[in-house]
Amino acid sequence: MTMESGRLVAETEAPASTAALAWFDQIRSFLIAQDLPPEPPVYDVLWRYVRDENHDLSLAIDRVIADRQLDLPTLLDLRVKYVDGISTGDVAELVEVVHGQARALTETIEVGQTNLAQYDRALTHGSSALSTPLEAAALAELLENLGEATNTMQAANAKLAADLAVAVTEARTLSVKLGAAQRAAITDQLTGLLNRRGTIALIEQAQAEARSAGKPLSLALMDIDNFKRVNDRFGHSLGDDVLRFVADHLASQSDVAGGTVGRLGGEEFVAVLPGQPLAMATATIDQIRARLAGQIIRNAVDGSSLGRVTFSAGVTNDTPNDTASTILERADRALYTAKRMGRDRVVPDRG
Ligand code: GH3
Ligand code: MG
Ligand code: MG
Repeated sequence: MTMESGRLVAETEAPASTAALAWFDQIRSFLIAQDLPPEPPVYDVLWRYVRDENHDLSLAIDRVIADRQLDLPTLLDLRVKYVDGISTGDVAELVEVVHGQARALTETIEVGQTNLAQYDRALTHGSSALSTPLEAAALAELLENLGEATNTMQAANAKLAADLAVAVTEARTLSVKLGAAQRAAITDQLTGLLNRRGTIALIEQAQAEARSAGKPLSLALMDIDNFKRVNDRFGHSLGDDVLRFVADHLASQSDVAGGTVGRLGGEEFVAVLPGQPLAMATATIDQIRARLAGQIIRNAVDGSSLGRVTFSAGVTNDTPNDTASTILERADRALYTAKRMGRDRVVPDRG
């Protein structure tokens, strides 16, 4: 509604969509509670009532409903008494406001396309109905349709919200499971280190990083000496314990040196040492070797000695054309030399 005065135009602020719909809802509830027909004059009176536009009218209605139900004749009497000269056009304008606000609301909701489309059709139908002179019955039908469409949309949105909540929970569970599966796929169950697949991936990643950073990269292949004998003397289960013990030693010691260890399989381990040239890496691995060889391993249950556990290692450095398998092959050759030379030693690859 606009008011003109000279060159100034004052426009009453359009109610927020939620407010307009709240009035609409109040009118609807009132119609149901008082069992009134949704006809234009009724709607018009109630529109004024819920907005308290005519305070005397509001008080009169309140007095009636405090006592009894507000029937149609009483309401029409009140209308004649408190609201005179009301035109159908005013009602149409008010319904138009509700329509506009409801449409704005539908546009802000991005979901429930089908239901929104139905809702929009109901509103559009209402809009075209309002453009022609209104029959009371037509307006009644329009209001009813709008009410039904609103209910349908609210129900659909509530279901959509619930479905979304379920979908979000399911997606989270799946992503946790997926993460666990991905970790399991690259983790060695016995030692908790990277398994063969994880180790190969680690080597490839280290190669890519070393090359792009222009930094050296070394790799050591380590194999426990005479491990078959450990199994033979103490049993496979204690053999597993020894594998875990050695794995922990290699991992913690390499970690200190900035490296990462994986279990390639059996009693073979790989250490990836970024930033270390061959001589430095050889020294690093030899220190780790010496620390292990310097210990006597005991059975924690009965204190019995398992003797010393040693390993041999071949160390090599990454070259630009290496793949994970070519660098491993060179390290394996050096390891073979270390075994042949008597074990418990580290041999650098000399090309
Ligand atoms: P070398 O010094 O030449 O390496 O001798 P070795 O006995 O260590 O080498 P060999 O390849 O002859 O034997 C490796 C043994 O490692 C044989 C196999 O039973 C054992 N082994 C491989 N994987 C496991 C495992 O997961 N648990 C246990 N307990 N033993 C394993
Ligand atoms: Mg072996
Ligand atoms: Mg071995």
